[in-house]
Amino acid sequence: MMTTKEKDKLYVAPTYARFDVELVGGKGSVVTDEKGKEYIDMGTGIAVNAFGVADEKWVAAVTEQLNKLQHSSNLYYTAPGASLAEILCERTGMKKVFFGNSGAEANECAIKIARKYGYEKRGAKCYKIITLVNSFHGRTITTLAATGQDKFHTLFLPLTDGFVHVKANDLDELSAAANPDEVAAVLIECVQGEGGVNALTAEFVLGAEKLCRERDILLMVDEVQTGNGRTGALYAYQNFGISPDVVTTAKGLGNGLPIGACMMNERTQYVLGAGEHGSTFGANPVAAAGAISVLERIDDELLTSVRDKSKYVFEALSGAKGIESVSGMGLMIGVKTKRSAKDVVNECMERGVLCLTAKDKVRLLPALNIPFELLQKAINVIKSVAASE
Ligand SMILES: *Cc1c(COP(=O)(O)O)cnc(C)c1O
Repeated sequence: MMTTKEKDKLYVAPTYARFDVELVGGKGSVVTDEKGKEYIDMGTGIAVNAFGVADEKWVAAVTEQLNKLQHSSNLYYTAPGASLAEILCERTGMKKVFFGNSGAEANECAIKIARKYGYEKRGAKCYKIITLVNSFHGRTITTLAATGQDKFHTLFLPLTDGFVHVKANDLDELSAAANPDEVAAVLIECVQGEGGVNALTAEFVLGAEKLCRERDILLMVDEVQTGNGRTGALYAYQNFGISPDVVTTAKGLGNGLPIGACMMNERTQYVLGAGEHGSTFGANPVAAAGAISVLERIDDELLTSVRDKSKYVFEALSGAKGIESVSGMGLMIGVKTKRSAKDVVNECMERGVLCLTAKDKVRLLPALNIPFELLQKAINVIKSVAASE
């Protein structure tokens, strides 16, 4: 009989460079491999398992819905999607939500909103969207075009037209590029995730908002990774006190079931009308029921604990031997180590801690509710690995 690894190599498209580990289960912030070895999970499936693995409240919410109605299509009303939209709007001040199944899909919706907004306001020439160098917005041809990293582009040209990349934190460059005759929207991540866990400066974020307002350009925030409590606020833009026109999110919202959401404010809520966008699985009742249970638990107390844990990690790692810098926000943390990030991550894995990389950094995205003792244990392993030669 073939092992999972052998089967995967034979039958699964080779688009992923996997670690040599098969995960089979776990509980909370501890995941287990096929040999029964346990790991502290500092990656949570790339910021997806916000409350860890096999979380009881989430499993109960999902199971209850699963036993009622697993899918209906969007031809009918269903309660979980409507209630989830209500919660998202009440907690953000946004006015409407479109649901899809992934981050890329949430961003596709945002891009369609920008295109139509620009067209209706200023005509067919106003279709451009400014994004930032080192951004990441997804893997579809259009969200790849939005992604400001050439290495993802070269083999798939031509990409969707109309994306302009400017340097993060450079207001002059943004201002020069943001000609309202041609530019419909600016799309940013408040903390660039895949690009190396770099938080934008408050000056840049607030300056971008001001500029967008003055020129009637939409400000759109990609919260696929930063959203849902990850940075110590429900959404990262709230840390900056801005009011975006469009907010996209996914990853942690579903706690492991696929869901994406594109939120619109009073300016954008009616841009897309009936028949102009859709998704068969969008607002899937099971995924939505799970997401409701996730949002209900991201309250002030939890967000305070995220910020406390963040402070602990920043203090424990900053200036430690073999660690050059610590970046990010909340429990979205990048660690620049003297050793290569890949070596550190591999050795941490051997020592029972799962971490990620982002560019040349070790990236940490633990569950929002990781018990402090486990967090401490994981950080001590990372410190010791980073300090070794
Ligand atoms: C992961 C990610 C995406 C893409 O999400 P998928 O669910 O993989 O399509 C988009 N934007 C950001 C900021 C992300 O981190």
